[in-house]
Amino acid sequence: MNSTQNTPNIVFIFTDDLGYGDLSCYGATKVKTPNIDRIAAQGRMFTDAHSASAVCTPSRYALLTGEYPCRKADLWGPVMLKNPLVVDTKRLTLGQMMKNAGYATACIGKWHLGFGDTEPTDWNTPLKPGPLELGFDYFFGIPVVSSHPPFVYVENHNVVGYDPDDPFVYGETAETQTFQEKMGLDWIGGAKKSHELYDDRMLGTTIANRAVEWLREQKDNPFFLYLPTPHIHHPFTPAERFVGTSECGRYGDAIHELDWMVGEVMNTLEEMRVADNTLLIFTSDNGGMLNQGGQDAWRAGHHMNGDLFGFKFDAWEGGHRIPFIARWPGKIEPGTRSDELISIIDMLASFASVTGQDLPEGAGPDSIDVQEALCGEPQAPLRENLVLAPFSSTHLGIRSGDWMYIPAQGGGGFAAEKLGEHAFGGPAATMFTGRPNSDIENGKLKEHAPPAQLYNLKNDPYQTTNLHDRLPEKVEELQMLLAEETA
Ligand code: CA
Repeated sequence: MNSTQNTPNIVFIFTDDLGYGDLSCYGATKVKTPNIDRIAAQGRMFTDAHSASAVCTPSRYALLTGEYPCRKADLWGPVMLKNPLVVDTKRLTLGQMMKNAGYATACIGKWHLGFGDTEPTDWNTPLKPGPLELGFDYFFGIPVVSSHPPFVYVENHNVVGYDPDDPFVYGETAETQTFQEKMGLDWIGGAKKSHELYDDRMLGTTIANRAVEWLREQKDNPFFLYLPTPHIHHPFTPAERFVGTSECGRYGDAIHELDWMVGEVMNTLEEMRVADNTLLIFTSDNGGMLNQGGQDAWRAGHHMNGDLFGFKFDAWEGGHRIPFIARWPGKIEPGTRSDELISIIDMLASFASVTGQDLPEGAGPDSIDVQEALCGEPQAPLRENLVLAPFSSTHLGIRSGDWMYIPAQGGGGFAAEKLGEHAFGGPAATMFTGRPNSDIENGKLKEHAPPAQLYNLKNDPYQTTNLHDRLPEKVEELQMLLAEETA
């Protein structure tokens, strides 16, 4: 049935913190990504694709709901282990929309949208609502993020290997913890048996194997696999066989493991003889981060966001411009590139279009059907504006044509000046990277820097020159547009 059905299977690989410069097909030389490059050679690469946010959780919210995360109160940062599900189960999500079209649906990888409906989340009861209540038939993966407790796998509603005689207790450190002892996190301990099943170094292997297993089970239905990989979020724990294979340390080794995972999925689609009828998309939830591993990689000559300015968490391009590659044999011309402005928030409307559905009233209010950009050559821009959310609500920006407006100074991300896993970003990062910006001197904002920022990305793609004070009318126009778009 898969080879003759009218609508394609969809596999959506959603990586974590993978930057615009992290793949060899986007210009990286210190890592090699032959499998991901193959998607590009057989499909279309986008040069102006964006996440809706520069942070994990709001970006995932936007992907699944087609709604700007700024419309959802307080959804600016990542959820952690105590937070309930942040998506209203009454809202149409990508999973439910695909299920409505008759697809088998699975989410395998990193969830990071919260579980349950009480705070703090009770990890000793069935974890719902969660992915299954948002339309996924199956969930397997890590519940929060690879750098943060609880370090367990969850399958559907349950912690894998859960032992009621060894319950989770907030504030206790898990005995079997390996990489995280010194990070001072808000621990959840207990459930020792499940911790024994969780090994950071086998995370990529486990997720890839489970995705392959699920795909092989889909013999009779069209399928939608949402594969949010924990890669390449720190703490960079690739399997031993990938360690030392890149030229930029663990950061690059984690990219190599990611590329292997993508290859496993691609090989499986070919073995199943469904690759020709599958829309395969590979992208990321936000830009690359200048954490400790990223700094080591940078020193080795690897620039995770290419020449873009800024990093994960920032309103600058490095925070949210992402690699985006799509393959759909017979529909997308191989080896092509597109400069069309698109966003991951557009997947809801686009996949509805691909599967012949109309979105109901109120669903995906900010999602635009960009199928024509995937498969054709639009005569006019499909998306005129895009609201972009960094870590700080004060820096909610708007893209309009070639213009990017940010209503405050700096990047709006983490701004501490010290080197470290989480803290190195904002203007301070310019000292480390050597990137110029007219508002910044010696790693600090100039005393008389304009109060906000305006860039022309066509003439100045790396955001060297803030035009705010030179073009007050353009600033005013974009201020009004931002207010209208987020009203
Ligand atoms: Ca992320």
